[in-house]
Amino acid sequence: MLKVIKFGGTSLASAQQFQKVAAIVRADKSRRYVVASAPGKRFSEDIKVTDLLLTCHRLAKEGENFDVPFNQIKARFEEIIADLGLSLSLEDEFTAFYRRIVKGASEAYIASRGEHFNARILAAYLDFPFIETAEGIIFDENGALLEEVTNEKLGALLKKNPRAVLPGFYGATEHGDIRIFSRGGSDITGSLAARAVKADLYENWTDVSGLLMADPRIVKNPRAIEFVTYRELRELSYMGASVLHEDAIFPVRREGIPINIRNTNAPEDAGTMIVEQAEKSAGIVTGIAGKKGFGAIYIEKGMMNSELGFGRRVLRVLEDRKISFEHLPSGIDTLTVVVERGALVGHENEIIHDLQKAVQADRIHLVEDLCLIAVVGRGMINSPGTAARLFGALAKEKINIRMIDQGSSELNIIVALEEKDYEKALQAIYNEFVPEA
Ligand code: ADP
Ligand code: ASP
Ligand code: MG
Repeated sequence: MLKVIKFGGTSLASAQQFQKVAAIVRADKSRRYVVASAPGKRFSEDIKVTDLLLTCHRLAKEGENFDVPFNQIKARFEEIIADLGLSLSLEDEFTAFYRRIVKGASEAYIASRGEHFNARILAAYLDFPFIETAEGIIFDENGALLEEVTNEKLGALLKKNPRAVLPGFYGATEHGDIRIFSRGGSDITGSLAARAVKADLYENWTDVSGLLMADPRIVKNPRAIEFVTYRELRELSYMGASVLHEDAIFPVRREGIPINIRNTNAPEDAGTMIVEQAEKSAGIVTGIAGKKGFGAIYIEKGMMNSELGFGRRVLRVLEDRKISFEHLPSGIDTLTVVVERGALVGHENEIIHDLQKAVQADRIHLVEDLCLIAVVGRGMINSPGTAARLFGALAKEKINIRMIDQGSSELNIIVALEEKDYEKALQAIYNEFVPEA
């Protein structure tokens, strides 16, 4: 049995958390490769080290003094080292790091140091070798991950040691320039490492006892999901169930390696297993997720349905403006394009003008205050009446549905609502589908 395990920011935010992590690693000999994130929040108003690093970069770029955030970062690492009683000193490295920022180090390089230093500390504490992921995770010059090169190099690098700690979140180009993933990207590092060593399991340790049926910041005490399929998880994480980075799914999925989401603060909880095919059937609905910040373009034209190329002309206008669409429901004489709000704001008149020119519609109007909520579940395929229950739950709360889209996989139903109804709707849908324990 071989496990790759990744600890998130809150799991490595203080010496006390490091102690929990060490106990988890030592409790199971198969937990051999450990991916570390940068120190996260210790309490809700705290600032993540990655955010402090990004502030350093911004200030330095603007020619401002960045000593305040820099010293906060340094103090956080020093406190962890001191509280763990380690003899390690990062003093010289911090002096060198400071100079590099002054000399104009890249944003990626600066942001990557949170993971780098934290992994060094964790390696010393666990007495595991430290592995520099920049030598194994390889990006091209444009910042795109080279998956196969990475798989080979990272595999070779890791296999040199039976156990190791490696920093998450970053890699480098073949010339050694540091590149980072998008935020939350240490999850991807863990997944790449699991694939590279052909692990039996990828454990992802965070601050919740698994993927929850809804965002715990909105729904009170949502239930944890026992089993979820990769496809369901992809739908949920794309729609905002942000416990795992959406790009962390592909590398392990292709090797059939399950992911287990676990809670560092409650290691006895089984957490969520993410698998290709769930053995146990959950309820009808596996989870509910949503996002704010969408807008829609409503286009009306009589006989649209018989006008050849209508949809293509609409999408062409959007493509020329580099706007990608999220949903595209249509009626006989209407077409709605749901897009991220940011794509519309400030360009409303131009977009209407271009579309009008392309399709001579009877009416085009934009709305910019939508949210999307996805109800996801492999059980929905065999359960007639799910949509009716969803619409009923919203109607009872007098919430107006602006768009409905059922994925062709029948794995999800997505509704667009007014943004102001988001929280109320999420709770209402949760109450409808999750029986009280
Ligand atoms: P880490 O720093 O360990 O990577 P993250 O902050 O990235 O942790 O992800 C965990 C957080 O995701 C939880 O604390 C929770 O607030 C949030 N979250 C949002 N939606 C969900 C959900 N459906 N299930 C679990 N957690 C969720
Ligand atoms: N530290 C990085 C972030 O805050 C990466 C991660 O936590 O996964 O986004
Ligand atoms: Mg995360």
